[in-house]
Amino acid sequence: MEKIVVNLAYLLAASLFILGLKGLSHPRTAVRGNLLGALGMLIAVVVTLLDKRIVDFSVILAGLVVGALIGVVLALKVEMTAMPQLVAIFNGLGGGASALVAGAALYETKNPDYLFTTASVASGIIGSVTFFGSGVAFAKLQGLIKERPIRYTGEQVVKALFALIALALGTYLVLNPQNLELYWIIAGVASILGILLTIAIGGADMPVVIALLNSYSGLAAAATGFVLQNNALIISGSLVGASGIILTNLMCKAMNRSLLNVLFGGFGEVATADQDDIYAGKVKATSPEEVALLLEGARRVVIVPGYGMAVAQAQHAVRDLYNLLESKGVEVEFGIHPVAGRMPGHMNVLLAEVDIPYEKMKELEEINPTFEQTDVVIVIGANDVVNPLAQTDPKSPIAGMPVLEVWKAKTVIVIKRSLSPGFAGIPNPLFAMDNTLMLFADAKKAVQEIVSALKEG
Ligand code: NDP
Repeated sequence: MEKIVVNLAYLLAASLFILGLKGLSHPRTAVRGNLLGALGMLIAVVVTLLDKRIVDFSVILAGLVVGALIGVVLALKVEMTAMPQLVAIFNGLGGGASALVAGAALYETKNPDYLFTTASVASGIIGSVTFFGSGVAFAKLQGLIKERPIRYTGEQVVKALFALIALALGTYLVLNPQNLELYWIIAGVASILGILLTIAIGGADMPVVIALLNSYSGLAAAATGFVLQNNALIISGSLVGASGIILTNLMCKAMNRSLLNVLFGGFGEVATADQDDIYAGKVKATSPEEVALLLEGARRVVIVPGYGMAVAQAQHAVRDLYNLLESKGVEVEFGIHPVAGRMPGHMNVLLAEVDIPYEKMKELEEINPTFEQTDVVIVIGANDVVNPLAQTDPKSPIAGMPVLEVWKAKTVIVIKRSLSPGFAGIPNPLFAMDNTLMLFADAKKAVQEIVSALKEG
């Protein structure tokens, strides 16, 4: 195939990737964005296959069928709450594939130049870190290994040592490209580094780490793009690398933490304060019937969902409650915190799944000024994102994190099963406030019972 045709097709694919990413920036255009990106990838793959007949097409077709089958089964079976570990597998496979392809290309090329070997080494190191780091992230989130951060004295020195060994061997290989076996030793050292980097991070921080590993997988792919001199791979890898780091940054910002703190800080180990002091004698429990009565008299209600709504899969019941309240003339909006749940956009996805209109989902900056005019706030399985300590206790691990100021509403109903802390492991004074009522129950069951009580009332 003519080089110019190939490059024009790659340019078209790259434009589709960029338009796809732009589409993904809003829920309303996300599906179209996804399709545009997929179309771009299809064009890039088909053109590459036609341009370079590397292997027998029947092998490629077989791989395509097996891959598509696995993809379809995963898409249908994996629970929304298990999405982070699925993304971890995807990133890991991307990084691993980049490292293997770069290694294979190194073997095939006679007299490689510096750019070629440098790109191969970069792909080998970053790809291996990504593959094994993602493996650990998957195992932690899936509960296959302990989620607790594994820390030991001198761990930063050990990690720095492995990183330096990988870089030193990599430099040696660039200067002496005939020592091909060295590539696999470098990949081995980087693999251990990937494991060491991720076992030191607590399971609850894994979503941030996964976003970072996503970025790494893009960088590994871009490096392999230089190895193969494939413009589409360089561009798509760079886009993944850049968007992954932007997402990592956004997540850190929304949690008011620095990336260094996530990677080396050991969050999740915070000792929980004596909860009795905060809650003793001040917590008021309520019932679905009492909540229904309060809602009957409300003009404006804000629903704040959190991780517990995802765990309980309560979104369908929440939609029923929303419909019922709207049909009774109550104004209902949703307050969505950027890091509610366990992955970016977690709450938006769950609510969109049950057809809650996008314009009803308000971001933190938009909803906070409205709480003072709100009669009832229903907090469903959220905890850290509505914790006033973020504003009042400078020593708190969530100090400075922007939070939903639900306590400014007339009445706050908090639905959760107990007084247990959330992700940050700290108590929440909201539960003991004068205007707060606790509905201790599974989120789905509680909302269903409120709906029944409202219908009967
Ligand atoms: P939290 O983790 O703070 O709290 C969730 C609460 O849900 C728990 O206190 C738990 O209480 C309750 N819960 C669990 N299961 C159920 C159930 N079946 N029914 C009812 N309640 C239930 O969640 P938030 O969404 O408020 O905050 C998210 C946290 O996760 C933040 O600290 C954020 O920084 C962090 N995080 C978010 C990421 C993201 O991308 N979204 C990524 C990484 C971290 P109980 O056990 O008593 O029921």
